[in-house]
Amino acid sequence: MVEIPRMKSGENLKRIMDQNYLDGHVQAQAGKFVVWIAIGVPIELLRGFDIVIAVPENHAAMCAARAMGPLLAEKAESAGYSMDLCSYARIDLGTVFARGKDSPSRGLPGPHLLISDNNHCSHLVKWFDVHHREMKIPHFILDVPFCYEPQKAKDLNYIISQYQDLVSFIQDRTGQKFDIDKVREAIVHTREGITQWKRFLTFAAHRPSGITAFDSFLHMAPYITSYRGTQTLVEHYTQLADEVEGRVASGMFPVPNEKYRLFWDNIAPWHQLNRMSARLADFQANIIYAYYTAVMGSLEGDIDMYPFDEADSFVTLARIQNGTLCPYGLELRVKAMSKAIERLGVDGIVFSSNRSCKPYSLMQLDIQKRLSSRFGIPSVMIDVDHADARKYNEAQALMRIEALLEMIDGRRQC
Ligand code: SF4
Repeated sequence: MVEIPRMKSGENLKRIMDQNYLDGHVQAQAGKFVVWIAIGVPIELLRGFDIVIAVPENHAAMCAARAMGPLLAEKAESAGYSMDLCSYARIDLGTVFARGKDSPSRGLPGPHLLISDNNHCSHLVKWFDVHHREMKIPHFILDVPFCYEPQKAKDLNYIISQYQDLVSFIQDRTGQKFDIDKVREAIVHTREGITQWKRFLTFAAHRPSGITAFDSFLHMAPYITSYRGTQTLVEHYTQLADEVEGRVASGMFPVPNEKYRLFWDNIAPWHQLNRMSARLADFQANIIYAYYTAVMGSLEGDIDMYPFDEADSFVTLARIQNGTLCPYGLELRVKAMSKAIERLGVDGIVFSSNRSCKPYSLMQLDIQKRLSSRFGIPSVMIDVDHADARKYNEAQALMRIEALLEMIDGRRQC
């Protein structure tokens, strides 16, 4: 078999992500104000200040992808935190308790302010509250209504009023003047970056697919770290989409003999990306698309891009709060997944029931039933923990995926 050369955008990803963690530490040491945020907090808004932004969830995912998840989670468990808590929280708390020891990036720079939002899960707010108590720093909670349906005007205005409070709060704390032009510029960068991201994802529709969902899991990182709203985001996603386009044009595909086109639901299994994609390729199967990465830059049951409008920046940012990577209303998830299934020609669905993210996983049985009755395509439920490899049984998961492939074969023979 001809070896497919490694993607240059993969090398660029590693370079910019290493740089991101390093820059955070360097700027913090130089005295910059540091803010830790949850992934749903709109970074573009914070670009109105000259501050360091760090995202504990992304750091936890990076630790898990580099096989350090269990070691760091154990540090939180030995301090009394239950193994039933989300592994992102345990990895982050363990990293802080150990002062960055065993983290590939030496943890994150120490924060002056925490900002969370509660439309993902209440657990996240409690987790940030631990830091608030231990570090004795403020915790600003954006109270964002859960996304069950298209956003109501009163909810939009409620979120905007909290953005205004947040801006005043940061101005008071830092002594800096808020610069709205920088926020607008950041929204333009996000729009251009997400345009390229969506272009990259379109290559999943090609037969064989030009991408794997595992590529999309890896490359979402710049969007959910402090590269969101920057020119680096635009350049990286342009390079990624261009490179995949060039590969498809020259007949280079991740699974050239693709026989099974699968769709993934739930957060990435960070500790299994290479192993799982390689094992699937042995079966001539490719997970071509993931709901988790398809909804980046979309909202309310869509996988197409939300038109980020820099002219009305607070409204744009409050609207995009109604599109989330994690828990989301059942009807909207069914709608977005249906659109992907229709568009991509999917043979089967892998529902990954996530032992950490219960709010994400709770609705999966209902979603499975609805998609099955609508499209009649086979699906399986496998047990995964996105960041704690101790809660994952590879043999059991692969056995179920093999059963899915057999169901697809059976359906083809009918
Ligand atoms: S992964 Fe799930 S459980 Fe963990 S913080 Fe995010 S939304 Fe909450």
